Amino acid sequence: MTRSTFLPFAPPLIGDEEIDEVVRTLRDGWITTGPRAQRFEADFARLVGAPAALAVNSATSAMHLALVALGVGEGDAVVSTTMTFSSSIHVIEHQRARPVLVDVERDTLNIDPDQVEAAIKRTKGVKAILPVHLYGHAADMDAIYEIASRHGVAVVEDAAHSLPTRYHGRMIGSPQPGFEQPNLVAFSFYATKNLTTGEGGMLTGPPDLIEDARVWSLHGMSRDAFKRYTSEGSWYYEVVLPGFKYNMPDVQAAIGMHQLKRLDSMQRRRRAIVAQYDEALAQLPELETPVEREGVESAWHIYLLRLNTERLKIDRARFIEELRARNIGASVHFIPVHLHPYYRDRYGLKPAGFPVAQAEYERMLSLPLSPAHTDEDVADVIEAVTDIVRENRV
Ligand SMILES: *Cc1c(COP(=O)(O)O)cnc(C)c1O
Repeated sequence: MTRSTFLPFAPPLIGDEEIDEVVRTLRDGWITTGPRAQRFEADFARLVGAPAALAVNSATSAMHLALVALGVGEGDAVVSTTMTFSSSIHVIEHQRARPVLVDVERDTLNIDPDQVEAAIKRTKGVKAILPVHLYGHAADMDAIYEIASRHGVAVVEDAAHSLPTRYHGRMIGSPQPGFEQPNLVAFSFYATKNLTTGEGGMLTGPPDLIEDARVWSLHGMSRDAFKRYTSEGSWYYEVVLPGFKYNMPDVQAAIGMHQLKRLDSMQRRRRAIVAQYDEALAQLPELETPVEREGVESAWHIYLLRLNTERLKIDRARFIEELRARNIGASVHFIPVHLHPYYRDRYGLKPAGFPVAQAEYERMLSLPLSPAHTDEDVADVIEAVTDIVRENRV
């Protein structure tokens, strides 16, 4: 039976604690960056084991600040993956550096370390590697850090999906043991992400780089703007850089503080839903369910389903339409960067250059996944998927 209401793909789970804290913030009268942003940074850094953290208004800002703090600029190159949201690559363009996109590994769809190494060898001026922990599953960081060490390049991690992700016993956001080059990690608190502040992000990394990024994040002013207006503050400040406006307001940090406390229970719910999907869908030979590699605990931001299209009479686009007809919201993560006209035309990128990403893109879709979904919602998704497969198998 088709559900009577549309099931949204990834609704946020917001409780009274978040709402009350926002109201208190508004009543306190300090609504932009201030004590709550500071507290959110400290709590976040503790959770992921980061030496320092900077709260900002998006993961895109966090990644941009990371490249700025590392001094990546014109004439430099950054190696990244085609299988990501385009903003991971936009920030490289913002710095007038050259993005060098490579293909992904077939199981996780994360950046392929062998291709990273080959790209560094054939490209002049590679300053950084920008891996993405896609869907919440860590990229092969041991291999990537080993390559980065050998070539003396920095690592900027797009961790928009990966709160909380464990990799070989440590959290993504904590330093890779033994890595000597600078390494910065960007998280997203966009409305659909595992932890949300509506819009928002966090940059973690070594304290000196985080403090540089902090100055860049707020007009290039030499001290916190908010201190200027407190009793111990002074009217005097100096602008030392042509900075950006990337700071996180306290109204949003108020939400983040309580989302952080809710994270454990939200993740338990995510994993329970994933287990239900796996159990029901892994038995269908028309479908391929997601993997979790040995030593990795995924944040399960997205549940990726791949269609074994040779066993089906319909393609991916039609599969999503069939889900929509059954009131189930699905999506695709992502349209690879090499297909977007800006990057395709500017760098002459062709699907043949990214055979794995291209083939997997054509058969992928993402099922609804949110801790706000009920058991009935999950059962509805399973029933709809199973029904579509049954009706359309060859
Ligand atoms: C959401 C997302 C971003 C951008 O995050 P914002 O906070 O919206 O800037 C970057 N990369 C990936 C992989 C994402 O999914």
